[in-house]
Amino acid sequence: MNAKAELAQLATSAVRQIAPYIPGKPIDELEREYGVSNIIKLASNENPLGPGPRAIAAIQKTANDVGLYPDGNGFQLKQALAKRHHCSLDCITLGNGSNDVLSLLAEAFLTPETQAVYSQYSFAVYPIVVQATGAIARVAPALKDDAIMPLGHDLDAMSKLVDSQTRLVFVANPNNPTGTWVESALKDFVASLPNNTLVVIDEAYIEYATEPKFPNASLWLDEFPNLVVTRTFSKAFGLAGARVGYALSHPEVANMLNRVRQPFNVSSLALAAAVAALEDTEHLTKSITMNRDGLRQLVAGFDELKIRHYPSAGNFVLIDCGKPAATIYENLLRSGIIVRPVANYGLPNHLRITIGRREQNERLLVAFANQTL
Ligand code: PMP
Repeated sequence: MNAKAELAQLATSAVRQIAPYIPGKPIDELEREYGVSNIIKLASNENPLGPGPRAIAAIQKTANDVGLYPDGNGFQLKQALAKRHHCSLDCITLGNGSNDVLSLLAEAFLTPETQAVYSQYSFAVYPIVVQATGAIARVAPALKDDAIMPLGHDLDAMSKLVDSQTRLVFVANPNNPTGTWVESALKDFVASLPNNTLVVIDEAYIEYATEPKFPNASLWLDEFPNLVVTRTFSKAFGLAGARVGYALSHPEVANMLNRVRQPFNVSSLALAAAVAALEDTEHLTKSITMNRDGLRQLVAGFDELKIRHYPSAGNFVLIDCGKPAATIYENLLRSGIIVRPVANYGLPNHLRITIGRREQNERLLVAFANQTL
């Protein structure tokens, strides 16, 4: 055994089995590797408008204070969130992005003797945080590819996997990478779960989900003490690089999460930016409108090109290239467009495309028109 392999053996067997998260290719990396310029990144579901002016001003103002630790309790942000969600401050757990909160949930509630349930083709971080604890992951088969919500969550299949050892159930609504969502069935699903199972509804993209029947699980917190809702500032609020997200839950759950949370897990810049972003309803509305128009533009373009696309309530669209997508991904890179391959999700023929600004979407569609699919 070489020295490198021996070091890996020192890690827990659960950690050794984790498939690492593959992020979207950064713009700098593409520039370095391919020597292309004028790059557009439609790979990580970021807001194409970036942060709003108020958030930028708040970061600039707070820059003078970075010599000091941030407020470890994030009082001002919690106060703003409590107002937004009509809940008390002790229901809120702040995270370094909502990924952090997902990880805290696993750390606080899972052991190798317990289980977590999530769906096939759901967000890639669920398997990582679950496996890191040594807990057993029970993966429910997704809905069929010809269902109304193709490859989406099958809540009945998920229910069947829940037993007395299940501590966490993850539902991404809308789901990444499929874009699919669940409507009225979600509340019944939450109600059907045993009290000793926490159900985590991951609403990272909810601001984009403008369908009238789209459920807002944050409104059910008083009804279900075992419900946890996670949200983020990375998407519609345009603060992916700041790293700030949160969980809403029963105060007892939040109390447990706070015990495993790093004392200063959200930076002062991120806290200030998030407070300002909540006040900037104009930027939020602009972001949502641009996304709605961009989704229409991409859907119309894909229809014209006869490329199969999946229903999406988020800021991205999953497409089926009808053949392994790796070459198309490469060709797009060469023309300066970064999208997201999803072979790691078990979808080698598919690509996930973040909805960009009008001209970016146009450039993507032109690049597709030049491909042989
Ligand atoms: N949940 C879902 C469904 C996501 O797609 C993402 C980001 N890709 C996250 C959570 C985490 O985002 P962040 O850590 O930036 O809040």
